[in-house]
Amino acid sequence: FTVLTVESSADDTCAAVVTSSREILSNVVIKQHDLHEGFGGIHPMIAIEGHQRNMPTAVQRALKEAKLSAQDIDGVAFTRGPGIGGCLSVGANAAKTLASALGKPVVGVHHMQAHALTPLLTSPTAQRPEFPFLTLLVSGGHTLLVLAKSPSSFQILANTVDESIGRAYDKVARMLKMPWGNRGPAASLEEFCRKDIKESDAPYIEPFAVPMPGKLAFSYSGLHSAVDRYIAASELYLTEAHRVALGRAFQDAAVRQLCAKLVQCLSMLERKDIDVRHVVASGGVASNSFLRSRLKEALEKHSPEREISLTFPPIELCTDNAVMVGWASMYRFLAENYDDYTVELRPKWSIGTLPNTGNFDLS
Ligand code: ATP
Ligand code: FE
Repeated sequence: FTVLTVESSADDTCAAVVTSSREILSNVVIKQHDLHEGFGGIHPMIAIEGHQRNMPTAVQRALKEAKLSAQDIDGVAFTRGPGIGGCLSVGANAAKTLASALGKPVVGVHHMQAHALTPLLTSPTAQRPEFPFLTLLVSGGHTLLVLAKSPSSFQILANTVDESIGRAYDKVARMLKMPWGNRGPAASLEEFCRKDIKESDAPYIEPFAVPMPGKLAFSYSGLHSAVDRYIAASELYLTEAHRVALGRAFQDAAVRQLCAKLVQCLSMLERKDIDVRHVVASGGVASNSFLRSRLKEALEKHSPEREISLTFPPIELCTDNAVMVGWASMYRFLAENYDDYTVELRPKWSIGTLPNTGNFDLS
């Protein structure tokens, strides 16, 4: 089964072709960073116009790179939510119109479900996570610990009480004057923290604490405010070594919080006799290498004898892409569970409330 898929929930215009035999035939991502840099964040109206301008090109390129014509496609998928309503509507209308003109079925996908299921597409068979698995979803709009029971059944175990880790990364990156670069300011910050500085040039920064210890819930607004206060209190000009030290202190605290809550969540599941052997971390922030190595260490420490696997999507499939949306739609296409061409968007849509859609077993 071959799916043509589009994704336009935030600022990237994405299109791809994916098959049920796990082939990624194309993956087109048209970024808009240059448009939003001046605003210091995503400007909705400009993002909508960017999608309107770029969507036809993205779809055309996805088919061309897959060496297919529209007639070769078996179904069309799109992101139904959550996301910016006007942005979602560009992809949804493209997908629904294309599907109806071709007489093919259409499926609208939950964006976070797509992030969560990506390793089921990309991991080699022996390392493929099995249900139920625990998924840490860390992205621009979400910081969640979710128990994935099936491709369409998710239970939220922890959420952020204020902002997401991705948003905190973006804000701190801006405070430290990181360039947007190709992969955005947060990726520039990660790179900047790896800079070789003389330890003697860097100030000691007291590690920022993990908020609400003992609770599963996340919180990130205090952390970015703490960085803001540190900068405001540094009357002296911040040297590069200072900025690197501050970036590292932020990154250390942001990731330490993820590790602490993840381990706590695993212990809670063990106490409740819920047998979880696999952890998946995905979403844009999971592309961060520092985060990857810290999570690995935390899991190894938590279960030195009991094997709990840790899986990430490939780095380029952590941030938004249409491949993950196409893969998440596959379970429904194969179960012949399609949406109507009149299906409406869900800009606000919790992953905990997905309808049970009669999943096809794609193991
Ligand atoms: P959501 O998936 O919650 O709807 P989104 O789709 O806008 O939000 P993603 O594209 O999944 O978010 O992820 C983007 C986020 O990932 C940005 O907020 C950015 O801060 C973060 N991010 C990207 N690369 C890195 C990196 N190398 N290190 C840390 N964070 C990163
Ligand atoms: Fe996303």
